[in-house]
Amino acid sequence: MILRLLICTLLLCGGALAADDAAVDAKARAIQGKILKIDMHVDIFVRQGARTTSGYAAALGDAFTQIAAVHKLAEETSPDKIGIGLTAADVRRIKAGGRKVAVVGVESAYPIGKDLRLLDQLYDYGARCMSLVHNGHSDMGDSSQPKKNEPPTEWNGLSPLGKEAVQRLNELGIIVDVSHASEKTALDMIAASKAPVLASHSNVAAVSASARNLSDAVLLGIGKSGGVAQLVALDDYVHAVPQEKTAAIAALAKDMGLEIGVFGPRDADKLPPEKLAVYTAKMAEINRTWPRANVRDLVDHVDYAVKKIGIDHVGISSSFNGGDGIDGWDRAEDLFGVTRELVRRGYTEEQIGKLWSGNFLRVMDDVQKYAANLKGPSR
Ligand SMILES: [Zn+2]
Repeated sequence: MILRLLICTLLLCGGALAADDAAVDAKARAIQGKILKIDMHVDIFVRQGARTTSGYAAALGDAFTQIAAVHKLAEETSPDKIGIGLTAADVRRIKAGGRKVAVVGVESAYPIGKDLRLLDQLYDYGARCMSLVHNGHSDMGDSSQPKKNEPPTEWNGLSPLGKEAVQRLNELGIIVDVSHASEKTALDMIAASKAPVLASHSNVAAVSASARNLSDAVLLGIGKSGGVAQLVALDDYVHAVPQEKTAAIAALAKDMGLEIGVFGPRDADKLPPEKLAVYTAKMAEINRTWPRANVRDLVDHVDYAVKKIGIDHVGISSSFNGGDGIDGWDRAEDLFGVTRELVRRGYTEEQIGKLWSGNFLRVMDDVQKYAANLKGPSR
């Protein structure tokens, strides 16, 4: 289970770049200064463990502890710097006041186990976006990435409990997120949802084949639901990473005594300084031999999705804490390179605004309106 925090970072700075096209740069800078950029970070990880009562209980405890930390940050430690956005209007208001905005999202339903009543508690605690599945099948449905000891499918898509969960998320006004679900699970979630659906961090399978990327059918389903597919700056999903590179990274991890996760060595930042320096140099060498994806590769996914489902249904996200960046967008403040590439390809200011935040906020609004209508005028 991963708790996902969607931090809307409102950065006005651009990265350094080679000014090979001054007009594009100037236009991109002007746009960058005006639009609201939502950058979706995976800030908190609690991996899916045993699907047992005690496993769920431990995960639930973690989930609430982590959401509590967000509340503490926004309400006690740094209320002058960051606020929690419960609605799209909150996000715009907090941004207009010059602060950052946290929209609390829960990645995977593992912490609620089989108890859908906990969805209400998550909502009351501020969660406004939730996926049902992470790595490994869950009680809610099949994952796009089963664990090594698991069959390709357990439920043939969304489980009956998962279907009920989608309905409850709709009723509460929490956005249903299909990222990490298998294609069949995602299609089932889209079919079950009466409100627009989100893919918070996936790419386009037609551009780069990966189990984590969205098939045309899923893309079309998201568009038809009125939702948004947020394409992610995560190297492995932007382009295919050669096996030799994966092997070289695994060998490096072993040398350094690091455990290897889905996206490579874990906890490298906890190495002692001298070991970290060696690790960093060797990783740089590996990336020189097999270059990472870059912003042009990412925008290829954007172009494809926009052609397929329209500019109103595409967004961009990052996953710096749950994977890796790409060349040209390695840190939150490097967003400018992506905006610049969008300008270079002819996207307008209005379109770029939709990609960076407008579409996500519209979906947030629409999902909440759906729930409010169900609840009636008393709410
Ligand atoms: Zn993820």
